[in-house]
Amino acid sequence: MINISRPQIGEDEKKAVLDVLDSGHLAQGPRVQAFEEAFAKWTDTKYAVATSSGTTALHVALLAQGIGPEDEVITTPFSFIASANSILYTGARPVFVDIESDYFMIDPEKLEKAITPKTKAIIPVHLFGQIGAMDEIERIARKHNLVIIEDACQSHGAKYKGKKVGAWGTACYSFYPTKNMTTIEGGMITTNDPQVAERARLIRNHGSPKRYLHDTLGFNFRMTDIQAAIGLVQLSKVDEWNRKRQENARFLTERFSKINGVKPPMVREGCEHVFHQYTICVDKGRDKLVEGLNGAGIAAGVYYPIPIHQQPLYTNMGYQDVMPVTEALALQVMSLPVHPTLTQGELDTIVREVGLRC
Ligand SMILES: *Cc1c(COP(=O)(O)O)cnc(C)c1O
Repeated sequence: MINISRPQIGEDEKKAVLDVLDSGHLAQGPRVQAFEEAFAKWTDTKYAVATSSGTTALHVALLAQGIGPEDEVITTPFSFIASANSILYTGARPVFVDIESDYFMIDPEKLEKAITPKTKAIIPVHLFGQIGAMDEIERIARKHNLVIIEDACQSHGAKYKGKKVGAWGTACYSFYPTKNMTTIEGGMITTNDPQVAERARLIRNHGSPKRYLHDTLGFNFRMTDIQAAIGLVQLSKVDEWNRKRQENARFLTERFSKINGVKPPMVREGCEHVFHQYTICVDKGRDKLVEGLNGAGIAAGVYYPIPIHQQPLYTNMGYQDVMPVTEALALQVMSLPVHPTLTQGELDTIVREVGLRC
């Protein structure tokens, strides 16, 4: 089977884990701090705060920005459910804005209409490994005094006009095994705002500025030193892995541009895409194609088949949005393996099997 992702846990990661186990420091300790410092440096940001997952990173980042009940937060309906659920956890209301048809991310032209006096923040999701329309989104956010929280869970290392993810606000990362780098479970918040960093550190650790003193309601959303030790090793490899993803994507796009009925992924001008997913659009017969490829040993997948505003969780809360671009694309998108360990033989197989069915 050619899997859609293939997490790389090598000898270095195994040795790093054993070293932690032998050290006696198992929970959040010196390796978490070292991972935070290395990650801040790698993302060109001042502060990084490690958490237990990408979901808790988003939750903590919203709380650290003071988002709560009565507030509205704008996000995309075309993402993993955590992007919107993190808003619900704070008591605020997610407000959905439809997406651009070429890049699958929030359409800045539709953004301003969704802003109300209650709007406090925008969560643009840098989907599949590239970056949202951040020039326009930043301009609108400034004009309306809105906080930007970048959902960077799929875009470790992506750049736009020379700036790395996280340059437009507080950014949240996931290190789940399928992402471009992993700590098994884990997350990270990056920010240039010292107050946000300090509040985030408190909230992830039971609102405790020193032992057994608690001044705010926090959570146990800590990362362990075992996870951080894996993360430190992975961070030293992720640039090379991203380069390999880009190379694989270039090969696939070159071949697919010759196949009728397949639209390869578009890359925003000025954007360095890190291809967390290689997502094509097919006009007709998407489900049959996915099924056929799965039968031929290629784990093609659909991200995401049901938009968030149409999930029962949301319709049961009364959401009745109609999002024409999102709803159309949810029927056309499919993702193919692009991960760094694909062999040339596997890439050829993917091209051949897609070509046979289109
Ligand atoms: C993976 C992901 C998350 C959640 O991260 P977890 O580490 O699984 O909690 C949030 N948003 C997006 C866009 C993701 O892909």
